[in-house]
Amino acid sequence: MLHHERLRPPSRDYPADEWNVIEKGFLPEFLAQSETMLALGNGYLGMRGCPEEGGPNVENCTLINGFHEARSIIYGEEAYGFPKTGQTIFGVTDSKTIKLFVDDEPFWLPDARLLSYDRRLNMKSGTLDREILWETPAGKHVLITSRRLVSFVNRHVAAISYRVTLLNAGASVVISSEMATDQAIGRSDADDPRRTRAFAGRVLHHRASYAKDRRIVLCHATEKSRLILACAADTALETSCPYAYEVTHTEDFGQVAFTIEAQPGSAIHLTKCMVYHSSQTASAEELCGRAEWTMDRVMKQGFQQLLASQEEYVSDFWRRSDIRVKDVRDDRIKRSTVEIQQAIRFNLFHILQASARAEDTGVPAKGLTGQAYEGHYFWDTEIYVLPFLTYTTPHIAKNLLAFRYKMLPQARARARQLGHRGAMYPWRTISGEEASAYYAAGTAQYHINADIMYALRKYVQATGDERFLRECGAEMLVETARLWRDLGFYSPTKGGKFCINAVTGPDEYNTVVNNNAYTNLMARENLSYAAATIDALRTTDPDTYGALVQKTALEASEAEEWVRAAENMYVPYDDRLRIIPQDDSFLDREPWDFRNTSPDQYPLLLFYHPLNIYRKQVIKQADVVLAMFLLGDAFSAEVKKRNFDFYDPLTTGDSSLSSCIEAIIAAQIGDMERALRYGMAALLMDLADVGGNVRDGCHIASMGGTWMMLAYGLGGMRDYDGTLSFWPRRAPEEHATLRFPVTYRGQILDVEIGLENVEYALREGERLVIRHETEEIELTRENHLAVRPVSRW
Ligand code: BGC
Repeated sequence: MLHHERLRPPSRDYPADEWNVIEKGFLPEFLAQSETMLALGNGYLGMRGCPEEGGPNVENCTLINGFHEARSIIYGEEAYGFPKTGQTIFGVTDSKTIKLFVDDEPFWLPDARLLSYDRRLNMKSGTLDREILWETPAGKHVLITSRRLVSFVNRHVAAISYRVTLLNAGASVVISSEMATDQAIGRSDADDPRRTRAFAGRVLHHRASYAKDRRIVLCHATEKSRLILACAADTALETSCPYAYEVTHTEDFGQVAFTIEAQPGSAIHLTKCMVYHSSQTASAEELCGRAEWTMDRVMKQGFQQLLASQEEYVSDFWRRSDIRVKDVRDDRIKRSTVEIQQAIRFNLFHILQASARAEDTGVPAKGLTGQAYEGHYFWDTEIYVLPFLTYTTPHIAKNLLAFRYKMLPQARARARQLGHRGAMYPWRTISGEEASAYYAAGTAQYHINADIMYALRKYVQATGDERFLRECGAEMLVETARLWRDLGFYSPTKGGKFCINAVTGPDEYNTVVNNNAYTNLMARENLSYAAATIDALRTTDPDTYGALVQKTALEASEAEEWVRAAENMYVPYDDRLRIIPQDDSFLDREPWDFRNTSPDQYPLLLFYHPLNIYRKQVIKQADVVLAMFLLGDAFSAEVKKRNFDFYDPLTTGDSSLSSCIEAIIAAQIGDMERALRYGMAALLMDLADVGGNVRDGCHIASMGGTWMMLAYGLGGMRDYDGTLSFWPRRAPEEHATLRFPVTYRGQILDVEIGLENVEYALREGERLVIRHETEEIELTRENHLAVRPVSRW
């Protein structure tokens, strides 16, 4: 149920536009939200959408994925196996500030008389564009235009093209290009555990700083995580007006100040390039050298070339990923086609920004748009983000899975520490070590093991990348299956079924429970997939199998044990309600008093002690319902409906990971009313600040969920047994059409659900076999189009 609808209405300050998220005025009350929504990033480097002048801001940070400081976790009461070291991302050297002074008057948004204002996240070019006409107190008209980009092609690079033109008079102009290593790091909020923690003292320690003409390099290192960062900034000025400049730098600050005698009508064009290199192994000298090599290259290229490569990259992304809607005129939605289109692209674009160049890292819960959740990687990546990437940009999906493979040693060590065989992936982490300080809603979420293996399977099926399965996947499968086998046991009180106790499922409002249905179902998949993979390897690829046995000390009997555990997996069932109870004790709990919970007491986690929540029947986010989506072929529509009807009224949706899933199940059972309501909440989670905390960063998992909601929910896509099938259904009152591409085994299929028909077109590729409902369709280069009538609810 959506207990609190907070959808911000469209307003004239944020006009709808298919390709841009536009801000039509400087709105101090939305400062933090705009910083998030207009943030740029490429998965390695992220910059929040603060004004060029560096302020005013709420959180003007530049973030590097994975660049964190370690800290001791202090517990009031210690216990064995609690993680000792936390990891927190923080704002690194910020280099994007460009200050402007006209006749010594600073251009400062809150005080400036603005004759026009337009700032936009341009999702076609991958830039943040701004155009402002400022009237100085002396009546001079100053046109300021800028374009900022964080390059997808050069992952260490960001750049700004900044132009100032005096329109009606000359003036003395100063443009100060600055960089600073801010020591006021992190924004904390003791009452909201989702926000980041502030550091007490200095986090970045000076290693080197120097200037070579207008190029300034600042190099710093963290103390405990031993990471080093070199940041370089360089500027080029083009103008026919006379100018001079001065360069200053200290350990934490760099500045190039241009003094220009501006003449009316003559543009002053500053190009600023910013480069970031970080490492745990390279020396400070080497990193500074790398930053300079990169800088030499991009300064030679110039902004236009950086922009051209950015546009090409983004256009290629849309070619594979763009989802288009037409003719949205449903009264229930109360949004226009353009608004829906904008929201879809906004979600997809931010996933790209969070993941494109996440090489050797994961995707933080907020991407690089904010510091909340400390920059940690959760299951969000595998269950919510990877489906989109697998079906549009599989090489990014592969990078992310390879990153999980790389953290296998830490996962093995963690399993040992907790007394298990196999490997146990961390609930939240940057470095691979578990960083969750609250085990009940952290470490106990064992399901993350199965989530990662679920994503692996989808990836392998959709791409046919058997090599990755052999080289990395199989080893992860062995270790995760081992863990499940070791964790569970055959319980005499449950008829000898395989039970898994003391775990937390996705729903963090019911913790440390026995037989969480989601966990058991997903663990079953994990065990079977591991056994089947090992079996196949043994017979088809004895060399790889032999190497795997060597690496993992795999015993012949293990796979049989996994099959036995999977076949005997206990899945709770209640005969009276004919539903799957979320866990062994869920139905014994007292129902939550929703009637006397006011809308401003959500999310409950901020207003009630955990125990108060844990002893009640109340759910934070889809749990059984999520299993019914992920393992949808194991449940009939009737079972889905019964469970959904039971769980929906108990689900607060206090996690942004919930609405998208509820929308999918609602669509699959033909409840279009609820499908649209949840679908809209997911789609507008960040643009309309549905959760009320977009200031802290975008909800990247929900963004991935919107793709699933459109493709799997409204588009009726299914991919259970390695075959792509579609079951699109329309309600009679619907008018909108939906078109989305799916990359499958290197080919691109376009699916268009129209009013009467659904069209399948093989846009790129030789031959693809899909299913429309139960009919098999073969598409080839020659016969690339199939049209079928769309079924009605
Ligand atoms: C959710 C988790 C999620 C985390 C990070 C929490 O509120 O309950 O499922 O992984 O946020 O997005």
